[in-house]
Amino acid sequence: MRKNGIIIAIDGPVGSGKSSTAKRVAERLGFLHLNTGAMYRAFALLVRRRDHGGHDPERLHQLISEAQIGFSDTGKILLDGVDVSREIQEPDIALLASELSTNPEVRAKLVEKQREIGKDGGVVLEGRDIGTVVFPDAELKIFLVADQLVRAERRMLEYDNLGTHIPLNELANQIAERDKRDRERAISPLVQAEDAVVVDTTNLTFEGQVKRVLELAQARLGITQDLALTTLAH
Ligand code: C5P
Repeated sequence: MRKNGIIIAIDGPVGSGKSSTAKRVAERLGFLHLNTGAMYRAFALLVRRRDHGGHDPERLHQLISEAQIGFSDTGKILLDGVDVSREIQEPDIALLASELSTNPEVRAKLVEKQREIGKDGGVVLEGRDIGTVVFPDAELKIFLVADQLVRAERRMLEYDNLGTHIPLNELANQIAERDKRDRERAISPLVQAEDAVVVDTTNLTFEGQVKRVLELAQARLGITQDLALTTLAH
C-alpha cells in the first residue's frame, strides 16, 4: 500500500463526467483531486499568451521547458504561480490543449509532474491516459463513458453557467473533434485500460455516478463505512 492510500484513475472522453465525479469522490474519501486536463489547458493558455502565430516543435520545446504549471493548496490550477482556473475554461483553450497534447515533450513533462504529485496515493487523478500511462499500477481504474449527445448537452449547461452560450451542434462538433484526436494520436491515446471498470453515465444522475465510483473504491479499500450513503446525504 502507498503512504497515503490507493490511487484512483478516472479516464474517459469529453463530458463523460470525469471532473465533477473525481472532485466529489476525492472530497468524500479525503483524497487529493488531480485534474490533469487542467494542466494541458494551462499549457495551452501559456502558448496562446506568448505566441500569436503557429507553434513549431522547437518553440513548444522552449515553452514547455519554461512552463511553471502546478496546483495551489486548495487545488486551483496555477500558471507561473497565478490561478488561471477561469481562463482555462474557454472553449478555444480546450481545442488548443487537445492539439498541443499530441506533442511528446509536452506530455512527458506533464506526466512527470502528475507522477510526482500522485505517487504516494490518496489521490483521484482524471484524464485520458491515467490508467494506461501515468499510473498503469493504479489500484482502481475507471473508464467513464456517456452518449455523445448527452455529453454535448452537459457541456452546454456548463458553459451557460459560465455565461457563455454555445449552440448544441457546435459543441457536439467540438467534442467529436477532440475525442477523435485524443483517440487517434500516436502517443498515449485515449483508450480503456484492460483492467478498467467501465461506468456508463448516460442515464445516471450526478449522485448516481459518484455513488457507483465510491462503491468501487470502497471495495478496493476494503472498508466498511458506507461512503456512498454518506455522499447521498450531502
Ligand atoms: O479533460 P479536459 O477536457 O479538460 O482536457 C483538455 C484536453 O487535454 C483534452 O482534450 C486532451 O486532448 C488533453 N488531455 C490529455 N491527457 C490527459 C488530460 C487531458 O491529452 N491526461
